[in-house]
Amino acid sequence: MYNVNSIHADEFIDDGEIRASLAYAEENKNNAELINSILEKAAQRKGLTHREAAVLLACPSNELNEKMYALAKEIKEKIYGKRIVFFAPLYLSNYCINSCVYCPYHVKNKHICRKKLTQEQVKAETIALQDMGHKRLALEAGEDPVNNPLEYILECIKTIYSIKHKNGAIRRVNVNIAATTVEDYKRLKEAGIGTYILFQETYNRKHYEELHPAGPKHDYAWHTEAMDRAQEAGIDDVGLGVLFGLDTYAYELVGILMHAEHLEARFGVGPHTISVPRICPADDIDVGDFSNAVPDEMWHKIIAILRIAVPYTGMIVSTRESAKNRQKALELGISQISGASSTSVGGYVTPEPEEENTAQFDRSDTRTLDEVLNWLLELGYIPSFCTACYREGRTGDRFMPLAKSGAIQNCCQPNALMTLKEYLMDYASPATKENGERVIAEDVENIPNENVRRICKERLQDIENGKRDFRF
Ligand code: SF4
Ligand code: SF4
Repeated sequence: MYNVNSIHADEFIDDGEIRASLAYAEENKNNAELINSILEKAAQRKGLTHREAAVLLACPSNELNEKMYALAKEIKEKIYGKRIVFFAPLYLSNYCINSCVYCPYHVKNKHICRKKLTQEQVKAETIALQDMGHKRLALEAGEDPVNNPLEYILECIKTIYSIKHKNGAIRRVNVNIAATTVEDYKRLKEAGIGTYILFQETYNRKHYEELHPAGPKHDYAWHTEAMDRAQEAGIDDVGLGVLFGLDTYAYELVGILMHAEHLEARFGVGPHTISVPRICPADDIDVGDFSNAVPDEMWHKIIAILRIAVPYTGMIVSTRESAKNRQKALELGISQISGASSTSVGGYVTPEPEEENTAQFDRSDTRTLDEVLNWLLELGYIPSFCTACYREGRTGDRFMPLAKSGAIQNCCQPNALMTLKEYLMDYASPATKENGERVIAEDVENIPNENVRRICKERLQDIENGKRDFRF
């Protein structure tokens, strides 16, 4: 029985409610009056219910879909402005005891080369990332209590935060590791993590159990209730995601929105981020084995609907997607992207020979960070390495009202300009530097608050003079 406040996964992600929502959407997919009223509600930037979002997803009308995209763009611009935040994944270990059939790290894959970074290697990878200009990481590790116990993850976090190479620093470490206990989440919180990220993969319980035939991840309830335990432990920035292509996209969209509604209802704080990866090729993984692959056009529609359904939630796209797909996704709602990612263990320092491939997935966007950054500048965005909110204590229920009202823009914009300036001073190519300086000179004048504008200009000059790490 559906209950948004329940502590049980089967009740807050109720299969019956998902199917009833999809049936309601099917019945109403041509109901222009209803769809227009949903879009009017969405225009107030207060979000949509999972049922309303399902109706939009089912809507076949080009005219109404175009209206939907225009609204998504408008909401994106009003809440997030022009800034796009960068992050990079850092793979610590691909040892894993789970059996996820879509992932090359699954325990039965005997020919993949297994690797785990030593602290010296973590240090070297961190320096390589700092030398590219990165400030925000997402740590990735398989689930393996012997090879990758929590102590190992905590030690890696400590190592990463301790390294200050030249002007570099990793200022926010997000963590994507397996579902764990409240006690372990408390220890991650104490280690100073930013967001705890855990992808649901699929919300369809039956399908979930088939796709995870063995290992601790097989337990659907343990996995689905992980964000509740993280919140109970005091981690109030949590990141959701599904792997589109495992089940039908409509089922997953409704499921992820029900999850967001549940977190909001129980803790007063919705997800900090939502990721929208699609299944893609990798060692031992053939996309042709999955029949629910999401076409580009529908993937963009899903992004637009998420943007208007949870306007306060940051949305993330990785280098799984091509530059062309990422460009459209940025317009429709994405606020955070990775650049120049290595999806291999140790891959930032030593690119791997083919026979030693440890990549979790193949990348479509293989440009350097400088190329991606310059591309964003050319598209009219402000590339940002901002990590300010978490460091200023603006997380969870302190962050959400600012995000919901759009007031966070007063911080995002100047922080984007200042962190871009740092990048230009320390890492940029001449072409990127020229473009970046032009964008900073133009956009600093667009900061609405006079006082903030004045301080930002002073800080930009301080950065020019060699100082670093300012934030609003
Ligand atoms: Fe292990 Fe995660 Fe890959 Fe599953 S998805 S096999 S848990 S690394
Ligand atoms: Fe993100 Fe906060 Fe920085 Fe804005 S000010 S980019 S919300 S960390």
